[in-house]
This record gives sequence, C-alpha cells and structure tokens, in this order.
Amino acid sequence: MRSLLIRHTRYGDKTTDILVVDGRFASLSASAGTEADETIDATGTAILPPFYNTHTHAAMSLLRGYADDMPLQRWLNEYIWPYENKMTAADIREGSRLAIREMIQTGTVFFSDMYFEIGETIAVAKEFGIRAAIGVTFVESHSKSQQEEKLDMLRHWGDPTNGLITLTVAPHAIYTVGSNLLVKCAEVARSLGMKLHIHLSETRKEVEDCLREHGTTPVRYLDSLGFLGPDVIAAHVVHVDEEEAAILASRGVTIAHCPCSNLKLASGIFPYRLLHDAGCRITLGTDGDSSNNNLDMREEMKFAALLAKASSGDPEVMPADEALAMATRNGAAAFGIDAGVIQEGKLADALLVRLDDVRMQPCHNLVSNWVYAAGSSCIDTVICNGKILMRRNG
Ligand SMILES: [Zn+2]
Repeated sequence: MRSLLIRHTRYGDKTTDILVVDGRFASLSASAGTEADETIDATGTAILPPFYNTHTHAAMSLLRGYADDMPLQRWLNEYIWPYENKMTAADIREGSRLAIREMIQTGTVFFSDMYFEIGETIAVAKEFGIRAAIGVTFVESHSKSQQEEKLDMLRHWGDPTNGLITLTVAPHAIYTVGSNLLVKCAEVARSLGMKLHIHLSETRKEVEDCLREHGTTPVRYLDSLGFLGPDVIAAHVVHVDEEEAAILASRGVTIAHCPCSNLKLASGIFPYRLLHDAGCRITLGTDGDSSNNNLDMREEMKFAALLAKASSGDPEVMPADEALAMATRNGAAAFGIDAGVIQEGKLADALLVRLDDVRMQPCHNLVSNWVYAAGSSCIDTVICNGKILMRRNG
C-alpha cells in the first residue's frame, strides 16, 4: 500500500490535510500526526479536479501552426493528410510526447485519442503515467489486411497498465468509413466491451454530403445502422436539429464538445442549449494541436462558457460550475473512470492550484477564478492515480 499526504491545501472553504492510499482518496481531513510514504507541503494551494480531455489527436502536435486560417476540407486535403502520409512511427512517438507533456503541464490526466501507430502513443502515455483511451482508428482507405490487423490488436489487448490505458474502437467519421465497416466497428466494440469514438456532424458539408449519399442526416444515418449507444463518444456534434438531439440523448451518446477547434475552423456554433436541454452528456475536448492550437482544457472551459452565452444571448446558460463539470467529472464518467471529483473513496486524480497567483486573487469564488480568470501557470501540482506527474514548487 503506497500513501501520499498532501498537507495544508484548501478544500472547499477549509484548509486540510489529504491522505491518498493506494491511488484513492482515503481521507479529506487527515488528523495531525498522520504519516505517509510521501508528504508534500501544499500551503497556498487549493485542490481541484483535473481535466479529462475526451477528443484529441495527440501526435498532431507536430502540426501545430503548420496550416491555419482555412476551411476544414482544404486544410485536410492540401495540408494535413499529405503531411501525415510522410509521418513515421518515430515522428508519432515524438508528437505524442510533446502532446502528453503539454497536457500534463496544463492539468490534464486523461485523454481520449484517435490516431495511427498507436503503439507509440501508448508507450509514451505509459512512460508518463497519464490515463488514456487510445482509439484504434479505422478508415475505409486502409487495406483489408490492415483492418484485420487492427481488429486483432483489439481482440488481444491485454492491458499492461492496470486500467490506466484502455483502447477504443475509432471509425474516423461517416465520410471516411462506409456503412459495413461502421457496423463491424460497433459489433467489435460491443463484443469486447470497448467504447466507440467517432467524429460526427462537425461541418455543414458533412451534413450536406450525407443527405446526398444516404438521404438523411449523420445522426439519423448512424442511428439507422444501430451504431449509436451509451458506449459512443461523438466528437463535435455542431450541426444537429431538435430530433437528432433527442436521438442522441435517448441513445445515451456522450458528446465531446471542442469549442476552440470548431471556432478556429469556422465549423459552426455548437448548439449547447439544444443538446443540454435534450439531456445529452456533454464533455470537453481540445481536438488536435493542429486545429486548436493547444491542448489546454482550462481554455476550453472558458471558450465553451463564452460561446454558449454569446450564441444563446443568455449569460446564465452555462455557469462556471457547469463548464468545470464538463471538463472534469462528465469526461471521467463517460469513460467509466471513478474520478473527476475530490471525494473520499474516489481515484486520487487532482490538481493543486496556486491561490497566490495574481490571476487567482481576490478569491470571491474559486471556481469562477479557475474557469474565467486563471491560466495553466497557476497549476502547481498534477496528481494522477495517487502519483505526482508534475510539481513546480516541490
Ligand atoms: Zn478530431
């Protein structure tokens, strides 16, 4: 049993000592004299839940700033896909390393990824001790043998990481994967108890092409294939109508809202109120560094809240607490991770945030400061599964 004692941090409205045993919060009010294998002095900090990033392409951090300020299809066809065709496994390892370092430094302890050469990303995630759900990506243009290889990898995933890293089945999108392969992906995921991760209704063009090809919209099309269910993580979901919102809610689909990427690519305005009122579980993702251009989930919270307010004309539509829930416990819950809140018995994932940083003062409301005012430089310590991944002032 390994233990960690966090001394003198602010939890709620009191300063307390927090004991972590075997990767879980054992006590949020440890008594004086408690001892542990490792003790850290957290004076001047507050403890907050860390971030769970539900949509990334980690290795694409190599393409940060490579192509900006153009429409999605041109960006993909003329820049991103040609660049990616030249990327080697070693490049993907370096891109993943850069991304994971960035994620940890900005307070993220989990990411749901979708990319290629996933063995490289898994190796780096393991090395850093971060949680991840790594998508085994399917696109129609891969050969039959490549697809068989991927199916084999899914069937033989032995999880060498004690639950920190899982695999997901990730058909890229309805415009890159045909109906037979989409159905096959859903079958495989369900037979193995894995999540499905897909891009969905990201652009107006995707909807128009789907209408032309399948005579219906992307959400209705996927539902007609039996694809949608509580194991599906749908990234973006920008262009949906009321009935589609109801379908997504009734199927229990989790939405990975990526406000910065949608805004930067001018993909559209996420219909937060529509999806929220329909009862959908909404989480936050950054998308790749190539369309964001960072992986800072704290920025994502602020953009999500501001976008929802501006687009609905209602300043009450997404309070700071709700933005925080989307970035933290909603994402953890979507992936079945028993974390995302600071609570006894939960997995010990946490941030220690400096209260003496200029952006955190005065502190009328901690969550308000964290969502609207702070920067990632306020993060002092990042803890995942009871282990310290980063500590600035230790
Ligand atoms: Zn994406």
